[in-house]
Amino acid sequence: MKSILIRNGLIITQDETRRIIDGDMLIEGNRIAGIGKVKDSADIEIDASGQAILPGFINTHAHVAMAHLKGLLDDISLETFLEKTFVLDSGRTEKGIYNSAMLGMAEMVDSGITSFHDLYYSEDIIARAANKFGMRGFLAWVTLDEEYTTQSGSPVKNAEAFVRKKHGDLVTASVGVQGIYVASDETYLGAKDIARKYDTTMHTHLSETRKEVYGYASSHSGQRPVEHLSSIDFLNDRLIAAHSSFVTMREVRQLAKAGVKVSWNSISNCKLGTGGMPPVPEMINHGITISLGTDSNGSNNSLNMFEMMKFSSLILKSARWDPSVIGAQKILDMATRDAAASLRRKDIGVLKEGNLADITIIDTRQPNLIPVNRENIVQGIVYSANPVNVDTVIVNGRILKRRKRLIRKLPETLKENMI
Ligand SMILES: [Zn+2]
Repeated sequence: MKSILIRNGLIITQDETRRIIDGDMLIEGNRIAGIGKVKDSADIEIDASGQAILPGFINTHAHVAMAHLKGLLDDISLETFLEKTFVLDSGRTEKGIYNSAMLGMAEMVDSGITSFHDLYYSEDIIARAANKFGMRGFLAWVTLDEEYTTQSGSPVKNAEAFVRKKHGDLVTASVGVQGIYVASDETYLGAKDIARKYDTTMHTHLSETRKEVYGYASSHSGQRPVEHLSSIDFLNDRLIAAHSSFVTMREVRQLAKAGVKVSWNSISNCKLGTGGMPPVPEMINHGITISLGTDSNGSNNSLNMFEMMKFSSLILKSARWDPSVIGAQKILDMATRDAAASLRRKDIGVLKEGNLADITIIDTRQPNLIPVNRENIVQGIVYSANPVNVDTVIVNGRILKRRKRLIRKLPETLKENMI
């Protein structure tokens, strides 16, 4: 693998003290080999004058193989959305899932995302696509009760078969649960057993809509989803729960006590008009780690971390009538280091020597980022930047985007088969 020397950039390390360093970064193999004034030469040199070097963004809730669904599921409720997607899922082909996943990864890398946390069936196909594309995938095979699934065989057994196997350097396999509306205690605990047995994280949808929460409570003697999952001892620190929008303070305490992490999907929630939002400040005060998730192209319809950062910040400020309720630095943390911590990874999300070389370089010389400077670069990235500023993306020491163009061209024929 070729060594890469990035010269003269503004390095936003996202380390403990959020140091911002002027200088160079050396990548050897798939790791960061030096930060600061690096004198060595390298096989490839990138001049990053006027550019900011960041840890690649980490998207903690995605369904990448639904990338082709943009524009097909708009302006409908989540219930109708799920009915339609379950029908669409039942007719999918291996080639279609692979092609759609390639499209989703192209969109993510284009916007500076270097890792994604996925929830779907057929993650073995998505794993192949991730290795081919060169993107880092945290892939959770979704489980649900057999009576609801479009998977052949038992989802819990399928998940275990997926987790048991190795899927290449870029893929971390794990297990998920679709949600309380299609999963019994047995399914939840089956997924938890797999996670414990193979030491993986877990991924689920949780308390996304009022209908889910109050529908569940009304048929379970008033017990709410988080309360129930706490009572069966499902909640634990391996779990990343997407949404968590309708939770009481009692449930926040239960999530915090168990060490559950939350993926905040503000755009998807707003587009589906669910009217909910996780109580972010209260969750942070209770020590819950929060990161950002795009959700799928069906409900977002873009896989764009700049939109996620800005929109999440704005909707929270607006809801709380308080512009200081969350700052740009915390939002950038959610998209990088807090997401890495949620995935239980110390080797991504922060730029430091020895960490994996997952890097996004942002061009600050374009009109939308002028006159952002060293003092307000983080605000510039959160409130002003967009994918056109993403000059270079490197994953695992390999360049996937350079001079604002993706290295891997998607084949013209891709569009013909994404079902
Ligand atoms: Zn989702």
